[in-house]
Amino acid sequence: MARRKRRKTTKRPKRTFPKVFLCPKCGKRSIRVKVLKEKGSADIQCGSCKLSESVRAHILTDPIDAYHEFLDNYSKTH
Ligand SMILES: [Zn+2]
Repeated sequence: MARRKRRKTTKRPKRTFPKVFLCPKCGKRSIRVKVLKEKGSADIQCGSCKLSESVRAHILTDPIDAYHEFLDNYSKTH
């Protein structure tokens, strides 16, 4: 019984799931970020007000990084 725990495997999700962030335009938590590593960009879209942007991304970019870049761009242009 002592060794049973070793059979437990840790799950590593291979896909990056879209995460939901706060929208600077409509104020709702409905921003989805998709990092397209092959394209070197990340798509940002609000499911509520349909705001949509695209920012630079690379192999190490997390959705949160892309979101922050988007927020930065948004605050400069609005
Ligand atoms: Zn919105």
